[in-house]
Amino acid sequence: MARAEKVAVGVDLGGTTFSIGLLSTAGELLAEHSYDTPRSEDEPLALAAAASAIGGVLEQETIAPDRVLGIGVGIPGPVDPEAGIVKTAPNLPELDGANAVEIVGEQFDLPVLIANDAYCATLAELRYGSGRDVANLVMLTLGTGVGGGIALDNRVRRGPRQIMGEVGHIIVEPDGRRCGCGNHGCLEALVGRDGMVNQALRLLEHGRPSVLSERAGPRHERRSPKLISEAADEGDKVALEVMQTSGHYLGVAICSCIVLCDPDLVVLGGGIAAAGEVLFAPIRRTVRHRSQISGFDVSKIVPAELGNEAGVYGAGALVLDELA
Ligand SMILES: [Zn+2]
Repeated sequence: MARAEKVAVGVDLGGTTFSIGLLSTAGELLAEHSYDTPRSEDEPLALAAAASAIGGVLEQETIAPDRVLGIGVGIPGPVDPEAGIVKTAPNLPELDGANAVEIVGEQFDLPVLIANDAYCATLAELRYGSGRDVANLVMLTLGTGVGGGIALDNRVRRGPRQIMGEVGHIIVEPDGRRCGCGNHGCLEALVGRDGMVNQALRLLEHGRPSVLSERAGPRHERRSPKLISEAADEGDKVALEVMQTSGHYLGVAICSCIVLCDPDLVVLGGGIAAAGEVLFAPIRRTVRHRSQISGFDVSKIVPAELGNEAGVYGAGALVLDELA
């Protein structure tokens, strides 16, 4: 690395761990360090810990402060990026209302930018991942919940109420399972972690034989989308049906995304997106049949490329987009 090359610091803050990455202006991840997230009942310790860790990383990587363009922080929940405030962080509730820009910025004479983590993941794929050759994409991240983001004209958009791209709350079954948001039949309620596990339980209640029965533990405590996708890979019929149904719901939601955004690419990220064809085949089949009006090329529904590093790439990209 040239001595004078500028870098951006990207922080990916999570409920269990947080990571700090150094991104070159060319988008190369020069270093990444991970830490346990400290918790407290009522103090936003995680933000102060991230700030201290940044100082440590810069020292360890011998980066002089004048080479740092700024610090980007991805927050696991909705934020007010202009005010620098965390609105709510369901997995880190002690951060609710905290001024992240002030807390992180206190120790540095540097600009600090914050964004929601799904925004960061979308920006990361747009700049450095599956979407690096396109200007318009929709991203869906499949995990405990279903997050996402929308990029139009090479920028990730959130809208005046920061709600644009919340694809997990597209209604795909109007009278379906209740969602954490209070509504019924949202995509997240059907294919989020609990939604997929619930699908499997319903099939098993009908006495269908499945390796899931023995692998999930006596109280089904190990049942998870990962377990389901592994069983589907081995040809387990119940697991395959869950993947088919989930793929169908995802496909229905993606059809809505296509007519709303006309994307060049649909990117699927998060753990379960690594399931491969067993999930992508029913998604593509549904989109091919249900979005004939768009003629969308279903080969443009692709997995995300950056995996767990998307968070630090995206947080660093916040800085590079604004300041490089
Ligand atoms: Zn919902």
